[in-house]
Amino acid sequence: MVQIILLCMVFTCVSAMQAQMHRYLLSSKWGPVGYKEVEDPTQKTAMDEIIKANEFMASRVIDGTTTLREGDIAVSTGRRSKVCFARSCQWAKSVDGHVYIPYKISPDYSEMDIKLIKKGMENIEKGTCVRFVPRTHQRDYIDIQAQSGCWSYLGARGGKQTVSLQNPHCVQVGVISHEFMHVLGFVHEQSRFDRDNYVTVMWPNIWRDRLRNFEKFKTENLDLPYDFGSIMHFGKYAYSQDGEPTIVPKNNQRMKFGQTEHLSHIDKMKINKLYKCDDDDF
Ligand SMILES: [Zn+2]
Repeated sequence: MVQIILLCMVFTCVSAMQAQMHRYLLSSKWGPVGYKEVEDPTQKTAMDEIIKANEFMASRVIDGTTTLREGDIAVSTGRRSKVCFARSCQWAKSVDGHVYIPYKISPDYSEMDIKLIKKGMENIEKGTCVRFVPRTHQRDYIDIQAQSGCWSYLGARGGKQTVSLQNPHCVQVGVISHEFMHVLGFVHEQSRFDRDNYVTVMWPNIWRDRLRNFEKFKTENLDLPYDFGSIMHFGKYAYSQDGEPTIVPKNNQRMKFGQTEHLSHIDKMKINKLYKCDDDDF
């Protein structure tokens, strides 16, 4: 009798292992079994591309002390990052009214890649007081590298800070602009503390391991309206477990979220308000 029970236990164990193996082999690299890519091109957002790159193409480990928060914001263990999360750490403003962001671009990128990266910079500069300038001697600067995944630190950290744009998955104008918005200090639009007035987060549809990417923060909203069309907004199917929407607009169900390439008008207003820029500074 004992032998039969033991045999049954071993059998159950082997079947469970097989099921796990089957599940692993059939699923994409890191994704949930039911993951489906957003098929409707009108619903695509820059963040969808970032999620695809970071979850399916990149290694999830940055280094021992750095992790990704909200999917693409690098956070290092240490006091400074946490402070920057609570209120954005701003880049210094020059006496001429511009906010200069010195940059270095890795020599690993092709000429075409560099063109796209510069297009991403122009996207931010147009209609704002921000200017990206090649680094000469400045202490604080961004170092754009083709590391694993698309990610950036939040705001100015002081000294050199990496922006990773993996090649080719992250070298797309919308993705680049999105990461530069993090550099300037902005989190994702649906992380606003008042987001529940505008959107409903469909918790049961979210891939269980990624629930934390839908946290809310005590954000500084700069007296600007909730921006469904922000380049910082997640798409409707972000981190979906089974292809069902994870965020839906409260009033108008057909409202489109996010952007694929450009900043929204309100995104530009956010930059100018945070950095106290006047029309004369553009
Ligand atoms: Zn992001």
